[in-house]
Amino acid sequence: MANSIPHPPNNLIDRFDIDFMPSEELHEWVGNMFIKPKSKLFNEDHSHLISGSIGFIWTTCNNVTKGKRVLGMAEIFNARSNKWVKGRQEQQLRDWFGGIPDFIITIDAHFWRSASNPERFALIEHELYHCGQAHDEFGAPRFSSETGKPLFAIRAHDVEEFIGVVQRYGAEATGIKEIVDAANKGPSIAPAKIEGLCGTCQKKVA
Ligand SMILES: [Zn+2]
Repeated sequence: MANSIPHPPNNLIDRFDIDFMPSEELHEWVGNMFIKPKSKLFNEDHSHLISGSIGFIWTTCNNVTKGKRVLGMAEIFNARSNKWVKGRQEQQLRDWFGGIPDFIITIDAHFWRSASNPERFALIEHELYHCGQAHDEFGAPRFSSETGKPLFAIRAHDVEEFIGVVQRYGAEATGIKEIVDAANKGPSIAPAKIEGLCGTCQKKVA
C-alpha cells in the first residue's frame, strides 16, 4: 500500500550492531504523500523535488544536542574531507541508494514509532522544507544548464528573530508578518507538538 505509513523494520530496532538503514518505503511514501502532484497532502512548496532524488535513512543512533533529542536531519552529500573519507561515504551511498541522492534525510526510528501521525507529517515536512532549490542573486530559482533540472541547496528558515524584538517593534517591521498570519489561520492539516530538534537547523521541529 503506497499510502500506508512505513515503519522502521524490527531488524533495525532489535539489533545492536546496526544503527542506520536506508528506507525505500519511506522514500515512496513521502513521494506519494507530499511531493507528487496528486499526493494526499500535496504541498506545492516541494514541487522542485519531483525532479530530485532523496535518500531516506532510519537511525536508532541516539543524538542529543542542547539537551534535546535530534529527530531528523536533511543534508546534501558534501564531504570536504580527504579522498578516502569522501570515497568511503560515496560508496556507502551508492550501496544504499544506487547513486548519490540530491538530498539525504535521516529520521530517528524510535521517535517515529512513538509519534502521532501529525507529528510524523510535521517532521517530514520540516526536513523537506530544508531540501530547497538554489536561487540566484535576484531571487530566481536556478536550474542546471546541462540537465535543466533544478539546482538544489539546503534551505534555511523563513524567519529568524528574537521574541523581544518582535514584542517591541511588531511583526511587520521584523519581517515575520507572514508567519504570524499563517499561525493565526490555524493548522490546515493538524496541530502537532514535537519535543525534539532538527539536526540541520538545531531548531524545534514543529
Ligand atoms: Zn531544521
